[in-house]
Amino acid sequence: MTKSENNLVHSVCQIRRNIKVQTQIAMNAASFVSQTVIDVHLKHHRMQLPREVIVGNGAIEHVAEISRRLGFTESALIIAGSTTYDVAGKKVKELLEQQQRMKVVTFLVETATAEDVGTVVDEIRKLRPQIVLGIGGGTKIDVAKCSSAQHGIPFISIPTTASHDGIASPFSSIKGSKMPYSVVSQAPLAIIADTNIIMHSPWRFTTSGCGDVIAKFTSVRDWQLAHEEIDEYYGGYAASLALMSAKHVMQNVETMQKENEEGLRVLMEALISCGVSMSIAGSSRPCSGAEHLFSHALDMIKPNQALHGEQCGVGAIMMSYLHGANWKRIREVLKRLGAPTNAYELGVEKEDILQALKMAASIRPERYTVLNKLRLSVEAYKHLATTTQVI
Ligand code: ZN
Repeated sequence: MTKSENNLVHSVCQIRRNIKVQTQIAMNAASFVSQTVIDVHLKHHRMQLPREVIVGNGAIEHVAEISRRLGFTESALIIAGSTTYDVAGKKVKELLEQQQRMKVVTFLVETATAEDVGTVVDEIRKLRPQIVLGIGGGTKIDVAKCSSAQHGIPFISIPTTASHDGIASPFSSIKGSKMPYSVVSQAPLAIIADTNIIMHSPWRFTTSGCGDVIAKFTSVRDWQLAHEEIDEYYGGYAASLALMSAKHVMQNVETMQKENEEGLRVLMEALISCGVSMSIAGSSRPCSGAEHLFSHALDMIKPNQALHGEQCGVGAIMMSYLHGANWKRIREVLKRLGAPTNAYELGVEKEDILQALKMAASIRPERYTVLNKLRLSVEAYKHLATTTQVI
């Protein structure tokens, strides 16, 4: 990391390291605001950022203290899945009840559909909790984020896996909604990432998180391209933050091993920084380019086959080839992590890959990427997937 990159991180966050087990990043953020808005034609650029981020072994033990510090001492609603409730939710409930004497209600969800969100929205209307805590991987956090935002109630993100950057972003991905991609809801007010809990999640989730971060190599290039080609707003600061996260994970790939807390910490900080970069940009632009469009297309063609970050990683191999970047290095790192690098490892057919490439550019027409610039033929997509050994 260069010195200027280093300064960049420190200007976003003040990092306070506890000598024992945790890293607490107190974001230099403005206080909680209701919505992320960016409009370059107006003079306002509002950013919604987390106020407390705590990463480390045993971080969950601090939930009551963080809740109190943020001013929530009376009532909370926990959104978890049955597994994530056992893994972390139960503990959070006990700590809030015992240490803060809070009234805590738990609501279990297993999926993140528009219907799930609707049910939780009703539940929040009934209970009126001060704070909503999303405990789990992607789906539970997405439901908590989206439903709390609809009531203007803040939420705390407590990830139990490190599978993607939605744990810290202001966007949620809801199945059954009109959009196959993430939509704006709200950024978490706090993030509590207990590396001891996350370390015990399946390794595949962690490598998926690495894939989602590495994908920023191409998403940032797509954003730059959109700026050059169609004069789209480009936020250099947000882009640098996302890119630096990807570089940081690539540089520390040796530490990304099961049971290695240091590697997990690097990944968590990278995922959180990616979430922050989206908050700064006011859109998912720095973190979602053609490789994400490819992943969204694959979700539509073969739902629930591979994880989001796994698909984005494979997408990043192909899109970096199109950008004339070092696709071999991305492939090599994903391979070293044990993440999928081809159709077979993703559990899809070669045809699915080609169809996803063809569909990708039309999924989100307003998102200009290398696919719009090149407008490739079916034969060219085949050549791309074959050359990069994805099929
Ligand atoms: Zn992603």
